Amino acid sequence: MPRDPELSPADLLSALEAQRDELFEQAPFGSCSIGPDGRLTSINDMALAWLGWNRNEWPSQPVAAGLFTPGSRQRLAAGLSGGTPSGSDELPLDLLLRSGATRPVSAQLSALTHPGLGPMGGHRLLMFDNRVRQHEQVRQRMAAISFDTPCGICLMHADGTMAQANAAFTALTGYPLEALRGQPLQMLDSGRQGPAFYSALWQELRTQGRWQGEVHQRRRDNSCFNGWMNLSSIADDQGRPLHYVARLYDITAYVSAQHEIDRLAFFDPLTQLPNRRLLLERLEQAIGQTHSSGRCAALLFIDIDHFKTINDTRGHAAGDQLLVEVAQRLRQTARTGDTVARLGGDEFVSLLVDLDSHTETAVAQAMKVGRKLLDVLDDCYQLGNYSFSTSASMGVAVMDGSQSVSDVLQQADLAMYDAKRAGRNEVRRFQPAMKLAADEHLAIREELAQALRRGEFELHYQAQCDGQRRAFSAEALLRWNHPTRGLLGPAHFLPSAEQTGLIAPIGRWVLETACRQLGRWAEHAPTRGLCLAVNVSALQFRDVDFMDHLRESLQRGHADPTRLMLELTESTVHSVDDIRAQMLALRPLGVQFALDDFGVGYSSLARLIGLPIDQLKIDRSFVQDMAHGVAAAVVVNTIIGMADSLGMDVMAEGVETPEQLKALQAAGCLHFQGYLFSRPVPLAAFESLVASGANPLVAPLSAAS
Ligand code: C2E
Ligand code: MG
Ligand code: MG
Repeated sequence: MPRDPELSPADLLSALEAQRDELFEQAPFGSCSIGPDGRLTSINDMALAWLGWNRNEWPSQPVAAGLFTPGSRQRLAAGLSGGTPSGSDELPLDLLLRSGATRPVSAQLSALTHPGLGPMGGHRLLMFDNRVRQHEQVRQRMAAISFDTPCGICLMHADGTMAQANAAFTALTGYPLEALRGQPLQMLDSGRQGPAFYSALWQELRTQGRWQGEVHQRRRDNSCFNGWMNLSSIADDQGRPLHYVARLYDITAYVSAQHEIDRLAFFDPLTQLPNRRLLLERLEQAIGQTHSSGRCAALLFIDIDHFKTINDTRGHAAGDQLLVEVAQRLRQTARTGDTVARLGGDEFVSLLVDLDSHTETAVAQAMKVGRKLLDVLDDCYQLGNYSFSTSASMGVAVMDGSQSVSDVLQQADLAMYDAKRAGRNEVRRFQPAMKLAADEHLAIREELAQALRRGEFELHYQAQCDGQRRAFSAEALLRWNHPTRGLLGPAHFLPSAEQTGLIAPIGRWVLETACRQLGRWAEHAPTRGLCLAVNVSALQFRDVDFMDHLRESLQRGHADPTRLMLELTESTVHSVDDIRAQMLALRPLGVQFALDDFGVGYSSLARLIGLPIDQLKIDRSFVQDMAHGVAAAVVVNTIIGMADSLGMDVMAEGVETPEQLKALQAAGCLHFQGYLFSRPVPLAAFESLVASGANPLVAPLSAAS
């Protein structure tokens, strides 16, 4: 209640008391207020009726205790003097009626306080008729509690018009009591809920005796607020409603907090797009709709191409800006009813609903939208000072009601990966074959992981020889000792290991094993001088931990780094960013580098200048063609000549015949590897090959030919 500057504190107190008394005047229970001197300051109609007095004849301000029988007086006096009871303590009192009879009541005594101003001196005594039915008493008590709370309270007549309201109610609605009186509760409706809402409300209140729920109310100044309304009816002994009590709370702050919580829970804070959670809900709904309407829906799974590179090279702020821009473009292109969401990272989806009922037509519609979206995304982006282009890859899954939410997400995701494989900036529709391939992929991944755990991998060693057929080195070649399929060469499992990412742990195992082997060879005279070449895949080489792991493996295996040759392929050299820096960083460890399968990757020697490559391995295909065609012989001669001038050693791979060896030697090649000398063999066989005096590798050239 606003303070009036004209009123003295005493006036203010009595004004407040008067207001409270007015509120209690028509309450369906007995009520009186008692001043600090123990005299009655007010009494309500119900209490007067009980006592048998008419307000006009009522002797003014008697001592409160005078209303009760002698025994009750004592209890009341004790209550008034002995501290303030909490209000919930029951005080059994007997009213002394005008007729001389008595009436038992249960009373509650509480100190008069104002929510804003604190204790006001004096007490209020609420009295409940002991003779009315139990449930009626409960109602009376509930109503009494309502009157004592600081929320907005309004008492209504049985016809639903407002009779009384407390200060909080008038402050909340902005209407003075006079403006409320005689008006229906609906006068406060903002218009958002309307007559149907109120007639349902009254219906429930009349039949159930209570109603509660959210209301949207309009104040006198036309501003609106969200309220929580609690309505209860107060009935007479026959159960006929006498009054209704409305308790109204302003929950605007709560509602906006709730909106904020919802926003955080369902929307991505960066792009403001619906997040995965909301998308899943909408997807569920869309699937339900396809069931009921027979019309298809589609999920477009969108992934930004090379987003990681942008993030890594331009910084995360630029990455974020790009995502915001992408979100904006997707949102602008979407039709009403469709949902654009961000799943996380650089993954977005667009959910298209209400497509054709014919699946193939729906696919065509979705692909058309997909292409349009790709066009919109495949354009210049201005991020701060720089502008650059990027594109996206997209997978389309059409829902005809037969899929679950996770099916749809998986299908669109698989199709998106297919689009990436197809060269990016592409849109692909889901095909069942993609799922089969994915399942197989998963199964292989698990099988490979298990093979690693069970120690089913082993290294075989193939001799690398000099012109005198002496094995000075070996290449470690991976084999899988498969429990049912027997010994498998890399062609059977390396592509899957690369695809599933398991090449990383497998590659680590190879490196560790090879280093350990080098260390052991160093301990024995026949093998002391051997070098060992290990194949390293691009994925493994790119790994940020590669250098640390290599260093550790060398140390743990007590291996001489200068005897370890890392074989990289041409495609690795081209696919790793800043390969030169990476190779140079590894150089101080002392390891050497070989370029494997040289010639098949079409890279010119000139492109390799500047890379710290120690050895070129001429691919088997050239060696094998050499004997037959002049062209291959010319290529091999050129490679050897140029490598020589660049200070690189040359190793010929796949040497199978003495003729090939002779031709290679004639071209100036000094090092060889191939079946002519030895196949890749298990460790023991390789070691005995090297150690035995009968080592065929050291047999004179003429003996082998
Ligand atoms: P690569 O590094 O070029 O290895 C040489 C391949 O040629 C080996 O095949 C070897 O058995 C085969 N070979 C050697 N001499 C001859 C010959 O005279 N005639 C014929 N026809 N073939 C010969 P393998 O063992 O099947 O390995 C195939 C490829 O798998 C390797 O080619 C290498 O790229 C990859 N690889 C093998 N082990 C590993 C490994 O531990 N890690 C990685 N990342 N890749 C590996
Ligand atoms: Mg190799
Ligand atoms: Mg090779």
